[in-house]
Amino acid sequence: MIQILKSVFLLGVASSALAHIHSGNQIPFSDPRFTLNGIPFSTRAYWMRRANEALPNPCPFAAFGTVIVNHTGNPGLGELICTGSNNNSATGNPTLHGEISAINNCTTILTSPAGPYRLTPSQASAAFTSLTLYTNAESCPMCASAIRWAGFREYVYGTSIPTLIEKGWGQIRIVSAEVFQQSFELPNPSRLLGEVLTNETDPLFSWQFDPDFLCPAGCERLGGRCQSLP
Ligand SMILES: [Zn+2]
Repeated sequence: MIQILKSVFLLGVASSALAHIHSGNQIPFSDPRFTLNGIPFSTRAYWMRRANEALPNPCPFAAFGTVIVNHTGNPGLGELICTGSNNNSATGNPTLHGEISAINNCTTILTSPAGPYRLTPSQASAAFTSLTLYTNAESCPMCASAIRWAGFREYVYGTSIPTLIEKGWGQIRIVSAEVFQQSFELPNPSRLLGEVLTNETDPLFSWQFDPDFLCPAGCERLGGRCQSLP
């Protein structure tokens, strides 16, 4: 509780939001090594690595990957529902960040008549409140808002927005904790766990604007840009 209060006061949250955080189960930030909702760090690390593996190759320029997992009713690691990665350049759709791609993919999988779940639209919408979204970088405000509208049970990210900015990435400078704190009127409070496994996620976002930074494993510099080895 001391850490929660410290984070809240540092971020200058309004007293009404503070009251909600205390009465609900939102945690703006917590030590990523903590066991949260009974899930140990080793399981968080496993799924963060799977989010990294959701990328189409080891070094896409926009290396943003997401996995959505069901930890409820699934002992052990949990059940993978779907994956997603940034599809802006592949589709021309500027909203298809990794998180949005994954939410779209999960909706398709959950409602497919030929799939394993065969949920109705209302059932699929409700199902998100039982799921956990892992993304290898902190969500932009668009995606963090989508996560709150979906009502995810948990949201776990790797590299932070401040680190992305430090590495040269243009960002909308609103961190997820702020989006979460300002969404206190929405139902289904989501738990937030940030900066998980950053020693493995940060390098994926560190080479694009730094010509001296080593390429991720399986890639090499060609024409100034990291390219995956054949
Ligand atoms: Zn986004």
